[in-house]
Amino acid sequence: MSDKRTELQDLGEFGLIEKLTNRFKTQVPSTLKGVGDDAAVIEINEEEVMLVSTDSLLEGIHFDLMYMPLKHLGYKAVMVNLSDIYAMNGKAEQITVSIAVSNRFPVEALEELYEGIQKACELYQIDLVGGDTTSSRAGLIIQVTALGRAKKKEVVYRSGAKENDLLVVSGDLGGAYMGLQLLEREKEVFKTNPEIQPDLDGYDYLLERQLKPEARKDVLAFLKELEVKPTSMIDISDGLASEIMHLCKASELNCTVYDEKVPIDGKTASTAIEFEIDPITTALNGGEDYELLFTVDQSDYEKVASNPHMTVIGHMTAKGSGIYLCDKAGSLVELKAQGWKHFE
Ligand code: ADP
Ligand code: MG
Repeated sequence: MSDKRTELQDLGEFGLIEKLTNRFKTQVPSTLKGVGDDAAVIEINEEEVMLVSTDSLLEGIHFDLMYMPLKHLGYKAVMVNLSDIYAMNGKAEQITVSIAVSNRFPVEALEELYEGIQKACELYQIDLVGGDTTSSRAGLIIQVTALGRAKKKEVVYRSGAKENDLLVVSGDLGGAYMGLQLLEREKEVFKTNPEIQPDLDGYDYLLERQLKPEARKDVLAFLKELEVKPTSMIDISDGLASEIMHLCKASELNCTVYDEKVPIDGKTASTAIEFEIDPITTALNGGEDYELLFTVDQSDYEKVASNPHMTVIGHMTAKGSGIYLCDKAGSLVELKAQGWKHFE
């Protein structure tokens, strides 16, 4: 370690990962993909690979138990990880779950957490196969590792996009972020006056997007039915802008996105306006939507456009063309990824 001191926030999350890992070269032949995609890809045999992904949820950083029911938290912790396996076009099969808990939690609370985990296992047909339990002095920590499987030739990497490919997004974006804003607003109201009942009527969709997200296993099934294999894919955990940057970087391309095409639910948009936020910002820089962002060949346009769960939002351009958001009037704004800045 040198005497130089670099602050974490100067690097940001992605810069830090890069700095810490770029000197590691893979040494084992079965490691087909190490750091740098949604999941690691490990060869099982000639035809098949195993996929591995891990994510942590920390109290006070990723969730607030004032409004996050433990059952939902357990469910969400699993979804966050399955989403990364699906982003490789793989089948999720097992999870391990490690928890660090303080003694302020009664056993019943942790049972509730595991009810949510179980529900996710049942619905997504995966097995809980292990984990670890320790004590924590700084709040609840849940760390999930998901294992998946895929045919080697079916795996979709972040790096496979080609120039002129169409950029497609599943579902709609920004809802989870607006759900979080609502919950935070009601929390502030509650803190100043606990007598006031939370006013969350009519916002079910947004609350569900934040508290009980679903990983898009169904989108992989739609793609299979349509006989479309994406050329590249990533899941949207940190906001569309950030994920677009990752796809472009990995595929060594740029892209143009049309802001009018970005799918935003009506309730997300109206709530954003209520909060004086431009709706497109919730999609670009909000987080936790857990939708899939992928590219397909131009020839697949009709197929993709025929599916109500997928929206073409732009296309890939040559490296050096710039990464742009194009508005209705045709003017271009350079896209900047804000994503989640964990260290600020
Ligand atoms: P995602 O948002 O899909 O979960 P991340 O942005 O968390 O992906 O991580 C990007 C890549 O960096 C992944 O391949 C992940 O495994 C890897 N990674 C993240 N943190 C570390 C770390 N501390 N050490 C090694 N690899 C890491
Ligand atoms: Mg991911």
